[in-house]
Amino acid sequence: MSKPSSVVLGLDIGGTTAKMGIVSPEGEILRRAEEPMPHHLAAQTLVENVKQPATELLHWARQEGYDVLGCGVSVCGFITPDGERPEYVNVHALDGFPLRQELQGAMDLPVILDNDMNCAVLGEYHYGAGKGVSRLLVVTVGTGIGVGVILNDQLLRLSSGTTGNPGHVIVDPHGPVCVAGCRGCVESLASAGPISRRAEALARSQRPTQLRRLLEDKGHLTPEDVFVAAEAGDLPAQEIWREVGEWLGRGLATWVQIFAPSVVLVGGGVAHAQDWLIRPMEREMRRVGEPYFTRQVREVKSASLKKELGVLGAASLFFVPRHAPPGTTISSPHE
Ligand SMILES: [Zn+2]
Repeated sequence: MSKPSSVVLGLDIGGTTAKMGIVSPEGEILRRAEEPMPHHLAAQTLVENVKQPATELLHWARQEGYDVLGCGVSVCGFITPDGERPEYVNVHALDGFPLRQELQGAMDLPVILDNDMNCAVLGEYHYGAGKGVSRLLVVTVGTGIGVGVILNDQLLRLSSGTTGNPGHVIVDPHGPVCVAGCRGCVESLASAGPISRRAEALARSQRPTQLRRLLEDKGHLTPEDVFVAAEAGDLPAQEIWREVGEWLGRGLATWVQIFAPSVVLVGGGVAHAQDWLIRPMEREMRRVGEPYFTRQVREVKSASLKKELGVLGAASLFFVPRHAPPGTTISSPHE
């Protein structure tokens, strides 16, 4: 097979690490790197830290004879309408920082910033479990809960260049206040933090169970622990997944009634719980949702690309410019 002549540097700036890779038009990561993102550092230092491994990747790509079209960047936050700065971002040093221009200057390469959920759904739509699905909804369940949508083969940008913040749709008006300040949203009940806290509370209140033993061993619990305990037959752990699936299913019913997807993919740090999470979620969506819309959902299943979603989706902004933020001008040979 001959080498693709054009590649893109995909960069995924997450809450703890920046993942990056040289991506082929077929969505293959030809070479990858990772850099920690310590929150106490200034924005300029973070850019410098990313620049080093990125420059090595670019050097490698050019040595191999590839033409690098640009660098697509996934950021967990909204991007200002001019495409220059992340806002409301999980790495606080980057909030309002002219990231696009700084990265472009550091790498001497065209740079496009986009929201992480946009990149996640693009990654699945072009290269993953949602390949070719014209009405696709991706939910990620991790530290936060995010939703990205492809509608009629087009990335949906409704507000702030995204679908807004559907992870904060209210499902229990008496529920807890979430980190963003709303009460009883899906994220306040079904993201990683609430899952861990619920597990720790149950482990302390019940007779000895596997969750209690894990808590005594480690001093805290994670969604991964709840998954392991559920797999081992621990009833409180299984109960937690049933509850989490129900909260997510109620959120999903609302999202489905607005966006009318035919396929729903569930990804993110908590998604490895798979059937413990996805089956109750689908059941609840079908139980409470409007049948006209829920019937159109053919499948609710795991997303495929996991940790590489952001890198691939960000890179695709250069390969398929019609999905790039409005106002972006790119000349690409691939569309
Ligand atoms: Zn909220």
